[in-house]
Amino acid sequence: MTPRPCPICRKPRSAEFAPFCSARCRDRDLARWFSEGYAVPGPPADPEDIAREDG
Ligand SMILES: [Zn+2]
Repeated sequence: MTPRPCPICRKPRSAEFAPFCSARCRDRDLARWFSEGYAVPGPPADPEDIAREDG
């Protein structure tokens, strides 16, 4: 059994913020949903957050 990683950055997720690893990734996910609805320009992603989605 392999625990599912954070869907945002693929780091091991935290039980506190599941299914994300941190509040920041949780907020990123929320922001993504909001951006789809409002089409507002978002802030540039932090370089450290640009993780390969296909790992
Ligand atoms: Zn994360």
